[in-house]
Amino acid sequence: MSGMSLVEVAGGFSTLGLDSRMVEELKGLGYEEPTPIQREAIPPILDGKDLVGQAATGTGKTAAFALPMIQRLGALGTSRARPSSLILVPTRELAMQVAEAVHRYGRPLGIKVLPIYGGQAYGPQLRGLERGIDVVVATPGRALDHIRRGTLALEGLAIVVLDEADEMLDMGFAEDIESILAETPSGRQTLLFSATLPPRIAAIARKHLKDPVKIKIGAEKVAAGATPRVKQVAYIVPKEHKLAALGRVLDIEGPTSAIVFCRRRTEVDELVETLSGRGYGAEGLHGGMTQEQRSRVMKRFRAGGIDLLIATDVAARGLDIEHLSHVINYDVPCEPESYVHRIGRVGRAGREGVAITLAEPREHRQLQGIERSTRQKIEVARLPTVADLRARRLELTRAALREAVLAGDLDHFRVVVESLSDEFDVMQVALAAVKLAHRAEGPGDDEPEEIPEFAPRSDRGPRDARPGASRNDRPRDRVPRTGGRASMTRLFIGAGREVGVRPQDLVGAITGEAGIDGREIGAIEIADRFSLVDVADEVAEAVIVALRAAKIKGRKVKVRREGER
Ligand code: AMP
Repeated sequence: MSGMSLVEVAGGFSTLGLDSRMVEELKGLGYEEPTPIQREAIPPILDGKDLVGQAATGTGKTAAFALPMIQRLGALGTSRARPSSLILVPTRELAMQVAEAVHRYGRPLGIKVLPIYGGQAYGPQLRGLERGIDVVVATPGRALDHIRRGTLALEGLAIVVLDEADEMLDMGFAEDIESILAETPSGRQTLLFSATLPPRIAAIARKHLKDPVKIKIGAEKVAAGATPRVKQVAYIVPKEHKLAALGRVLDIEGPTSAIVFCRRRTEVDELVETLSGRGYGAEGLHGGMTQEQRSRVMKRFRAGGIDLLIATDVAARGLDIEHLSHVINYDVPCEPESYVHRIGRVGRAGREGVAITLAEPREHRQLQGIERSTRQKIEVARLPTVADLRARRLELTRAALREAVLAGDLDHFRVVVESLSDEFDVMQVALAAVKLAHRAEGPGDDEPEEIPEFAPRSDRGPRDARPGASRNDRPRDRVPRTGGRASMTRLFIGAGREVGVRPQDLVGAITGEAGIDGREIGAIEIADRFSLVDVADEVAEAVIVALRAAKIKGRKVKVRREGER
């Protein structure tokens, strides 16, 4: 355990010159210390300087500009009759996110913020603007509409932010941005953030920013060889499904000792509660705990009394923990160094380790940044499905039964089997016993929560290489693959675990050979010598015909409706 004091941890944000009310608010949000971009950007912005920040999503850049912006607006004491700050962003999603962040951070100073974006009715936007607003977060097109209608005044602007400038250019907003900037007061402060700085962005910066401070985050190369050999996997999961996805990943992986890293204290608490509820021995570790509390948790963890440690980077810093089976990043870490540091805790001493990262769709780019920095591949994989989970549970039951058979000492149960065998086939008795054992083994019979699949546009890992998965990669358009569909046909496929069949092989064969969508496939169970797959009634015949003509794991297999001979 390091000798780091808690005073140091808590001191992070206040040393940057931020208002103590905001520092308190951040503490409430569970932010333990500033991210690198926040540390570098906040002081010059507070000083009123223009700034060009090269940083991707997930680095904490929103707070990096929003916190000092809010403080300056408070200090300038601008009237709310006209907005004093305009933040331009490429998409409506980002407009909503940034507006929400400004609202959260600005609450103690009573800052009023309004997102305006295309596709939304003008009415509420107009009423919002009329009521008086400090900060407008807008997509360029809609901002320009309002400016032309005279409903968005620019004369009062003290600060203008261009967020994700490269994305805005890619979306064709260059001219709109130029027109908007041309109409803003020349004495304004201008902040530009962009993941990349192509010449066109540099040109905008030269033309519209005054002697800007330049900051670049996350591009440093990590020293070669600094990254340990660890199996690195990422799942792209929409934010609202992350908790369920974490549960699913843990159930599949069955880690023997693992750390789950997250960014905020509040997340630590939330995860501890949820995972404890799922039957994991989970405990939290964050900077808000006393040294004594932390030592106690660490002692229990080292002694094996805790399965999962849920920690922030700050709290885990300096901890010498070895022999972890898994490190799980609940968020993509803000910087490559932090990623390397986190995953360096698995796979030590020649042990095989697994590092799993849950990334939101918008954090995909940041993941690629880490890959570039570490020069190591992070496999973007398909989140295990409910069918995978069921197969895994059956696997566990099978292993438990096998162990019981090998352990022997079963004679006093013989009378039960013998008496039932007068009435039933021994196979049926065995199946019923397995069912009971399965229930006792697993986390209950409750249906696992459905998580819509999200496959990134590019960079599919091998497990994603399913034909059909690429047609539609927007999560909201996806229908869960399984989930209580009434009209399914169960197919018997004469190949199973003994020849290495996995759920993804069956999905691949069915979507590939029969040309049907993965959404038509339901539960999959894999036994030693055969597999059972549910497919939608309408496509059952086509799947049977196609699979009979195809090979699975290199061999011809029997395929028929279950129960048919
Ligand atoms: P951004 O890069 O602005 O999209 O921020 C990414 C995420 O990091 C958001 O969910 C923020 O709430 C979170 N975040 C920003 N700054 C911090 C911090 N200092 N500590 C913990 N989380 C943060």
